[in-house]
Amino acid sequence: MTDVIIVGAGLSGLVAARTLSSAGQSVTVFDKGRSVGGRLATRRIAGARLDHGAQFMTVRSDAFAAQVDDWATRGLARVWCNGFGDGDGHPRWIGSSGMNSLAKDLASGLDVRVDHLVFSCTREHDRWVVTIDDGQRFDADVLVLTAPVPQSFSMVFETVDVPRALMATEPHRTIGLLAVLDGASAVPEPGGVQDPNGDISFVADNAAKGISDKPAITLHASPSWSLEHWDDSDLEAQLTELARPWIGTANIIESQVKKWRLATPTAIWPEPCWVDVDHRVVIGGDAFAGPRVEAAHNSGLAAGKAAISLCTPRR
Ligand SMILES: Cc1cc2nc3c(=O)[nH]c(=O)nc-3n(C[C@H](O)[C@H](O)[C@H](O)COP(=O)(O)OP(=O)(O)OC[C@H]3O[C@@H](n4cnc5c(N)ncnc54)[C@H](O)[C@@H]3O)c2cc1C
Repeated sequence: MTDVIIVGAGLSGLVAARTLSSAGQSVTVFDKGRSVGGRLATRRIAGARLDHGAQFMTVRSDAFAAQVDDWATRGLARVWCNGFGDGDGHPRWIGSSGMNSLAKDLASGLDVRVDHLVFSCTREHDRWVVTIDDGQRFDADVLVLTAPVPQSFSMVFETVDVPRALMATEPHRTIGLLAVLDGASAVPEPGGVQDPNGDISFVADNAAKGISDKPAITLHASPSWSLEHWDDSDLEAQLTELARPWIGTANIIESQVKKWRLATPTAIWPEPCWVDVDHRVVIGGDAFAGPRVEAAHNSGLAAGKAAISLCTPRR
């Protein structure tokens, strides 16, 4: 019998799971994706490796510094650069083999079930019953939700009074282009450009960043461009035009478009998680003190600790 079920195997869910597991609680994590990591996403295309969600992480808190130090000591994370353009001197950390490898590291040894879309979470006889889209049911003492807030809300809104302030504004969307090139890109040192114009929020050269043997760029369109063009049928051609200055004289060998519908929360809760003691549910994720990788980590830590305090003490 599982003490705690966690929905979401992104950074926040995995950190919550590790926190609970270290405290001796049994925990099962469900994720609808084919792999762990959520927005810590890395994809292989035509022999290149590209980060296509979060591009880097910054470290401000002691809690996250301890985690990043641990990764760095084991060679899993390293500093990419100290800012873009003129630089601001603040270290930008990356996963040495891509951002997703950090999530895989956290997931190792945990009971994480991918390809499990949580369809509903209901209360039965003082326990949570989580139903997966194939009809399987799992029950637990405590529920921790770490999906993006609109998705968490849809799972429990009939039972739990989730603060409406969290749903007050629409999350930003991001449309990305992943393009593998036959030669070096024109992205300037250190291999990243932030907010170059109103249409683009970031361009990265994954080879210059050191995660890909082959030249490959990631371009993220800005929230306003992404919203305006979300349903366009010729996105690949339009994004290729946006990317042209950074493709330079190289040719595209292969490219893919990636849409992040819930890329960035815009309603940010001031606390690292939200707890309903009566219903024994905790909600976390990067909408809590977010919206960055570090916030997701610290929210997962807080959610894990809160869930420990909600678990029924063992006799
Ligand atoms: C394009 C992009 C670029 C970014 N760049 C940066 C950056 O450079 N630096 C930075 O600090 N941050 C960046 N971020 C933000 C950062 O990626 C996030 O803040 C962080 O990864 C969020 O982690 P999380 O665990 O809260 O959520 P997620 O990673 O979204 O994890 C939630 C998980 O819940 C799962 N899920 C959802 N619904 C269900 C369901 N019904 N059943 C089962 N599972 C479900 C999802 O599959 C997902 O794996 C970026 C985000 C995007 C999208």
